[in-house]
Parts: sequence; C-alpha cells; structure tokens
Amino acid sequence: MESPLLGKNSTELKSLVEDLGLPSFTAKQLSQWIYGKRVKTIDECSNISNKNRELLKQNYIIGRHEAEKQAVSKDGTIKYLYSTKSGAIESVYIPDGDRATLCVSSQVGCKMHCSFCATGQMGFHGQLTTDEILNQILSTPRFDTLTNIVFMGMGEPMDNYDNVLRTLDVMTNPDYGLGWSPRRITVSTVGITPKVTQFLKESECHLAISLHNPFSAERAERMPVEKAYPIHDLIEQLTAFDFSHQRRLSFEYTLFDGWNDTTRHAAALVRLLKNLDCRVNLIRYHSIGDAKIKGSNQDRAVMFQDYLNNHGITATIRKSRGEDISAACGLLATQNKE
Ligand code: SF4
Repeated sequence: MESPLLGKNSTELKSLVEDLGLPSFTAKQLSQWIYGKRVKTIDECSNISNKNRELLKQNYIIGRHEAEKQAVSKDGTIKYLYSTKSGAIESVYIPDGDRATLCVSSQVGCKMHCSFCATGQMGFHGQLTTDEILNQILSTPRFDTLTNIVFMGMGEPMDNYDNVLRTLDVMTNPDYGLGWSPRRITVSTVGITPKVTQFLKESECHLAISLHNPFSAERAERMPVEKAYPIHDLIEQLTAFDFSHQRRLSFEYTLFDGWNDTTRHAAALVRLLKNLDCRVNLIRYHSIGDAKIKGSNQDRAVMFQDYLNNHGITATIRKSRGEDISAACGLLATQNKE
C-alpha cells in the first residue's frame, strides 16, 4: 500500500528519494509541491519527469484529503470533521478580525479523562500520524487566511509527542516545509512534565498549560493527570526555564462555578505563578451534560480577572466561539467512535 508523502520532513524526503534512485534535488521539489503548492496528487508535480512520477506513485501518495463534514456557527467559526485511520476527528477554524486561528487535534479521543471535557469522555481511540495532523491544516478551505495554529483540539499533544514534534518541524522548516514562524503556533498540554521540559528544549513554539485549579487535591478531582504529574512540580521546572526571546507561556483556566472561581483560588493562583513571565486565559465553561459541573457567571469571571490583573498577573477572558456547533473549548467529541 502506498504511504503518504504528506508529513515527511527533510530527512525523510531526502532518504526516500535516494532509496528510489531519484536525483537528490527531487526532495526539495517534492516539499515545494506538498507544502508550498498544496497539491493533492503526484501527477501535479509537473517539474518531476513522467518516469520519476510513476516511480513515486508505485510507493507513495500525497495523502491529502478534504473534510467530510463541516458545521458553520453564527459567529463565523467553522468545525471540520475528518476521518483518519483511528476514527473521526475535528478541527475548528476561528476567524477574529484580521486573524484566523485553526485549532487542531492530535489524537482520536484522549487518555487524560478530564471530567469536564467531552473528548475525555470518548476514551482513547488512537494516535494521529504526522500526515493526519498536517492534513487538518493543509486541507482547511481557508488555509490562505490562517494566521495561527493552536494544538487545543481533541487529544493531549504531549501524549503523541513524536508525531506532534515532527509536525512542528514540517510547519516551521523554511526549506522543506511551510516555513511558519514558531511564534504563530501554540501547543497546549495538561502538563506531562517530562514531555513539557523536552518540548521546551526541542521546539520554539509557544506553550499553554491547562491549569484550572491551583490546589493539587482539587485539581486531581477533575484532572487525573495531577496525580502523576503535580502542577507544582511543573511550575518549578518552568520557573527555571528561560522564557525570553518572545516565546510565550500561558495558562488556560476554565472557570467553574464554586470549584475554582473564589478569591481563595485567585490568591493561590497569584502565588503559584508569581515568578513566571506568563499570562492567564480565563475560559467560560460550556456544560457537556454533567449537571454537577457548571461554569461561572460573567460577574464572577470579571471579578476573578480583576483580582489577577490587580496582583500582577495579566489575565484575559476568552470570547466563547462556536458554542452553537459544539466547537467551543471542551466540546469536541465525534459521534463515530471507531
Ligand atoms: S481537556 Fe484535553 S487533556 Fe483533558 S481530556 Fe480533554 S482533550 Fe484530553
């Protein structure tokens, strides 16, 4: 069976070209067709000879495929559904003035079981391969308008570390990839500490940590990852890291009514983050049917934000997007659980 060329980095393209006995410059030509011109078939690679295209076609396909379904929100947000080898996944296009962000998935389902998240409730169905992650980006109908990519869709990116890192390599490589600045890409994680520290050494992309509660025992109630990788240990590691050179560190904090939105929590959050150059994104929660878990109201969200801002932590309240099509934070879950 032919394997996809999409997702191959410079080393892999050079080696497959060599294995097929093609001229070495074919690797660069292929990367320009796949990532620069976003072709869908090898036949479109018109500066590669017919004979060499046939040779490539015996072993490879480009590997691009369009979304199977899309849903458009009244606020302009668009949710796309793609099928992959492990099941269906979703990505979300979020236009905002002169910016447009694509939120991509890294796994089919998730192993982390955060109790407030629809993806977590699907269970885990498989890792996305590099081509499956990149396909969400390259096959977005509005690719040309994209300004930012966030790994905040289905799955925990640090639990599919190698494929996510290879994707970032292709996205940021100017010669054998898309040539994007790493400052346009944010990878979000619940905080798998060893992988986060590895990521900080191996990538220059922005980092976002899903924090949600500054108290370990309370965080563990809704985020089982806390038991294996306590947030305080992660913060200690982050404090020792140099976040200059424009790399951004942010914390995602979803506000839940009575659970993490009190002054006690805000004060503990300030203490936890006081030595870090970071910002906090406060997120309004969208209920996924568990009546016990409710989001904070707007007044409480503003009070929480004011407390942080008045105590030296930059905090913003995220606008909710795509709620009517279940595309907002924590709502991504596909029906066909293969
Ligand atoms: S919030 Fe993220 S890490 Fe937690 S279950 Fe959902 S997708 Fe997984």
